[in-house]
This record gives sequence, structure tokens and C-alpha cells, in this order.
Amino acid sequence: MHLKNPFGMRNGKIVMIRDITTAGRGAKCNCSCPLCQAHFIAKLGDIRQPHFAHDGKPCDFQVAVMTAVYQLMFEALQENPNFVYPAHYGEYMGFSLEHKASLQDIKRSCSFYAQKCGEDDECIIQSGTVQVNEVQIHKNGKGVPDALILTKAPAHKLALILVPPESLCKAPTPAPFQQLPTVAVFMPEDLYMIRSEEIKSVLCASADCKQWVSNAKIDKWLQGKLKLQNEAHSKRLQEIENERAKRLADIAATQERIQREAEEKAQQQILLKEKAREAATRYREHMRDFPTILKNKYHQLPDKPVTDAFGNDWYYCMLCNQWYPATQMAIYGGQEEGCRGTCSVCGRHSVWHL
Ligand SMILES: [Zn+2]
Ligand SMILES: [Zn+2]
Repeated sequence: MHLKNPFGMRNGKIVMIRDITTAGRGAKCNCSCPLCQAHFIAKLGDIRQPHFAHDGKPCDFQVAVMTAVYQLMFEALQENPNFVYPAHYGEYMGFSLEHKASLQDIKRSCSFYAQKCGEDDECIIQSGTVQVNEVQIHKNGKGVPDALILTKAPAHKLALILVPPESLCKAPTPAPFQQLPTVAVFMPEDLYMIRSEEIKSVLCASADCKQWVSNAKIDKWLQGKLKLQNEAHSKRLQEIENERAKRLADIAATQERIQREAEEKAQQQILLKEKAREAATRYREHMRDFPTILKNKYHQLPDKPVTDAFGNDWYYCMLCNQWYPATQMAIYGGQEEGCRGTCSVCGRHSVWHL
């Protein structure tokens, strides 16, 4: 529903359309426009929403409404200087640890409420009452009221931004006022149903229709979240760096182990080759020296071939009187011969002789 003007002025004070009795309907309301002071007519029809109308050409509706609401709040605080300010709860939803967060990032990751709504909501400001010593209406460059400045002696100041319902007129979104702690006061929808005494009482004494727009405690809370967030971010970066360093170290250790194993294997190969070479040398020396050893040992020939440590059978050539392994013998191994035989060399000669 679109709201029509519920604010008038009588004897220098704001009156609500609900204050007007049927006796005061029409021009008898004795009210004027809070902005242009033109005569008002109270329209109390049963069908249409009760409202005030200019008796003639209307002035600027929005400016008239803003003038009325600030004047109303001003009067309310003059009559009862105890202003109840709302509580403020913050919920921080968290932010990716992969990035460094800015204060803007933190703000975007927060929700604020005037009441505790969930488990994770933290109380930033407790609701309370401030006794006001002085109230001033601040006007913008165009002469339109845009804030109410409350002063509590000696120097504490609080700004109020009044927000009429959108169905009445479109007011600017509440913003921090001149770096003062700022509270937005949202006016109820049913303004044409409320008497001035009631609405003044609500505006002063109720915390429900109010919300903090700015306060140093909120900034401090946000800075605290920013600090924690970026400490966690730095820790995460350090963890990533540590993981990377550990991976690199693991790779290096693996490569080192592979290389060491390869070197050990190569060393073993060399040793094996050396052993094989030594064994070959020992065998060669044995084959070279064994005939002499046999000759010195057996002055009388044994009745069977002599087997050496390598499994070779040795025979004695009866022609050249030397010991030979079986591989160098031409004739050997007869029934009665025992270790006697003919070596390959002598065997060839004897063939020639034959
Ligand atoms: Zn007017
Ligand atoms: Zn021989």
C-alpha cells in the first residue's frame, strides 16, 4: 500500500493524522505543513487511508516528510531525553584461507543483527540507554534534514538517521554520519494508525526499530576478524610452503638413495670382476704349478689319476714324463693303466713315428 502523508504541524509540534478526531476533520484540524507551513486539510475518510493534504498546491513531498520525521524525533528527545540504542550482533562466515583478506572481504563475509539469531552470533554492542543533553537536526546542502546529532555531556556524540517506510517515501540508505557512531531508526509502516505520543515513545524507548550503522566497536570487531583471518592465512601459506619443502626433500632423498644404490651395485660388480679375475689367476697358476707339485710328491706313480681341488683329473705321460690334466691327454684311462697315459703332444709324435 502506498502511504499518504501522516504528518502535520500544530502549535509548532508534529501531530500524526491519528491524533485528529472526527471533530477536527478537514480544515478544522488547525494543522499546517511542517515544511511550507501551508494550511493542511485532515482527510479522515472511512474508505481511504487517513492523511493530511495541502489546501492548495502541495510542496515537495519527500522534503516535507523528512522535515516532519526529524522534527518528530527531535521533539520526542526533548520530551524524554533517554534514547535506547540497539544491540549489535555479528556473525562471521569465514573467508578462503588461500587468499589474503582485505577489510572489505571481511565485511562481505559478515552478517549483523540487532538480536542474537544464531549460535555463532557474537555480541559486539549491548543494548543500552543514553541520556541526551542536547539534540540538533543536521541538514544537508539542500536544506533537507539528514541526521539528528545527540550529545551527551561533555563530548559524546551519536548520530541518528531516520528512515521512513519505503511505502511513504524513498529515503537514502543509512550511512555512517561524519565518523560519529551512527544508528538508523526505522519508522513503522502503519504511521497513519499511530498517535504522536505512541510513536515518540517507540522511537525513544524501543530498540527493535533500530540498527547500528557504524560504531568504533564494530570496526574493532572487524579488525579482530581480519587479524585472525590473515593469521590463519599466513599459517596456511606456511603449511603449504612446509609441505612443498618436505616434498622436495623427499624427492632429493629418493634420488640420492637411487644413486647410492647404483654406486653400491657398480662397486659390487667391480669387486665380483676382481674376484673372478683373482680366481682365474689362481686357477691359471694352479694349472701351471700343479704338474711340478705332483712330480715332487709322487716319486712312485699312484695307481689312479690324481684329482685336484678344481675337480680336474691328472695323468702322467709315460713318454715325456710330465703330469697333465685329462684335457691335455691323448691316451689314458685303460683298465690297468691307473694314472699312466700319453699326452696330446707326445701322442702326435708317436702317430708320426707310426
Ligand atoms: Zn508543504
Ligand atoms: Zn708326453
